[in-house]
Amino acid sequence: MQTEPQKVKHILLVGNPNVGKSTIFNLLCNKNQKTGNYAGVTVASHQGTYIHQGEEVEIVDLPGSYSIYPTSEDEAIFTKYLIEEQEKYSGVIYIADALNLKRSLLLFQQIKDLGIPVLVVLNQMDLAEKRGLHIDSKKLETLIGNRILKTNAKANIGIEEIRNAIRNNEFSASDKAFFDIPSENLGLVFKISRQINETNFYKVWTLIAADTYLGKLESVKTQLNQEDRKCMVPKRLQVQETIRRYQQIDGYMSQIISKKPQFKELLTEKLDKVLVHPILGYLVFAIILLTIFQSVFFIAEYPMNWIDGSFAWLSQFTKTHLPDGPINSLLSDGIIPGIGGIVIFAPQIGILLYFLYLLEDSGYMARVIFLMDRFLRPFGLNGKSIVPLVSGTACAIPAIMSTRNIENVKERLITILITPFMTCSARLPVYSIIIALIFSDETIWGIQYKALALFAMYFLGFVTALISAFILKYFIKNKGKTFLVMDLPAYKMPLWTYDFKLVLGKVWEFITGAGKIILAVSVILWVLSYFGPKDEKQLFQVQSEVKLENSYLAKIGRQMEPAIAPLGYDWKMGVGILSSFAAREVFVGTMSTLYSLDDEAEEQTVIEKMKADVKPNGEKVFNFATGISILIFYAFAMQCISTIAVVYRETKSWKWTAIQLVFMSGLAYFVSMIAYQILK
Ligand code: GDP
Repeated sequence: MQTEPQKVKHILLVGNPNVGKSTIFNLLCNKNQKTGNYAGVTVASHQGTYIHQGEEVEIVDLPGSYSIYPTSEDEAIFTKYLIEEQEKYSGVIYIADALNLKRSLLLFQQIKDLGIPVLVVLNQMDLAEKRGLHIDSKKLETLIGNRILKTNAKANIGIEEIRNAIRNNEFSASDKAFFDIPSENLGLVFKISRQINETNFYKVWTLIAADTYLGKLESVKTQLNQEDRKCMVPKRLQVQETIRRYQQIDGYMSQIISKKPQFKELLTEKLDKVLVHPILGYLVFAIILLTIFQSVFFIAEYPMNWIDGSFAWLSQFTKTHLPDGPINSLLSDGIIPGIGGIVIFAPQIGILLYFLYLLEDSGYMARVIFLMDRFLRPFGLNGKSIVPLVSGTACAIPAIMSTRNIENVKERLITILITPFMTCSARLPVYSIIIALIFSDETIWGIQYKALALFAMYFLGFVTALISAFILKYFIKNKGKTFLVMDLPAYKMPLWTYDFKLVLGKVWEFITGAGKIILAVSVILWVLSYFGPKDEKQLFQVQSEVKLENSYLAKIGRQMEPAIAPLGYDWKMGVGILSSFAAREVFVGTMSTLYSLDDEAEEQTVIEKMKADVKPNGEKVFNFATGISILIFYAFAMQCISTIAVVYRETKSWKWTAIQLVFMSGLAYFVSMIAYQILK
């Protein structure tokens, strides 16, 4: 570095990491090397030279740093070189990032306050323009008192201008510091500056404020008194400095930066006029939901029929090809229909989730959250409650866990308690099988009754959640108020294939997760239905139909009958409800198993069998009244052991967990009963 300073001009290249320093260094020196943010590499290895208009210039590329106060070994090299070797170079080229001007200006100010001559280069101008950022560089020049060059290093634009500016010595040193030393520290700064013979007060200040050794100060430290040492809390001084500088820089930014709205932003603005409109917004949301539910039925119908048929065929196949006996029956009447009963809902759950992901991805979900916030406030809920409520339409378990970011204890508890009312994907199988049984394929204004019914079920869950929140608001003590602060992101094209892959994963998780429970439940059900208390010797000869009526399962179901008869359920449904206490979707698996055991019409699918089933009095088992009663029961009842466990884990309260369980089950029982009694 010490070669004849008269002939060679020494220049430092300084800036934040990733602003294009290496690119500019390479262009200036015609080098072709990549200099990353090098750990442990000596500064001197990043030298390069060039000759321009007869002048030889040596450039030293210093490691990137955000501040003069080092936080790493690299930055310590940077600071030490910059401050202690000041007499060895004639100026600094400060590379500022046009995209992060505010952050760039912090280090710039510090360097200038150290009394170092600086020339500013504003790089990445192309990217700033692309984003519609307009930077008034003339105005900034007057504000900071420095010449500013604009570059696009990637395209080699503006590099020659840097060489010219270096040739013409267009560096300016500070005449007045940006940062005023706080008055309470002035005394100490004066004292040290006298002792070490340093006239730049900011340089003295950095010696006090840096927590690592920056030289010179160590020698005077012994002469400082107790009071002086108390002032020397480096981190606090650094923070104080940073805050003051940013206040000043913020003032500049408002004067020099303007943003021209981009096409995307203009589009977003236009869309938002409708999508977050206080009336239209809700209307659009309702239409979107309705469309989703319509598709859930319409598109899913084909794969569902196919799956249903395949499992019926498989069951028939094992039945005819395996030797008669318990194994045959366990497979063909227990396991295969039980699993089939769950796999059949994979298309519906997949379609629902896919729509939810697309909405989230496109930026629309944020609008829903924003819209619903206005609406939810009166119910004692936080804006953030929307996230669990919306995710609750997929599954209550992750939804309840996502309440963790609700700071207010009361709002969080209410959200946890009401989230299980939201229509989760496990209810979907129950709803769709019952809706398929009791509603026809007719349409009204082009909308299927079935889709409307499903929409009504989602609505019912949501309304019940709100009403419950409203009631709970008066029972749980309040602590403080909170506000929703959120950014509405610009709309963007969703990641169609990525979301699709996510959905496949989730659906597989659902099938395998539910599959385990269903496998266990279907084996237990099969055992209970295959064996009966009476007539032990007939065990393997009797027809299933006869058997089923006399099985342990029938016995259990019959014992339940007095309790469930007012709701309109027969013993098979009783068994379904009992077994689905573990998880709602098990109801469907149970129904499949029970109706497969009913051997009368072997080639019929389970749904056809259920449709045809009649009570002893000739009335259809699944008529409108019982159907509605079941729908309501599953809308309200807490039929999910995993949710109960999560509620306890998140509330740490058996009391609230029990209250929730009893409230939901009680509500389910009474409302279903009332509905059945009115409709029958
Ligand atoms: P350094 O960490 O400051 O040395 O930054 P680099 O020189 O390694 O640049 C970081 C990245 O920004 C590289 O991919 C460069 O190609 C890119 N880059 C640098 N300057 C510009 C510019 O003016 N415009 C654009 N579009 N990209 C740039």
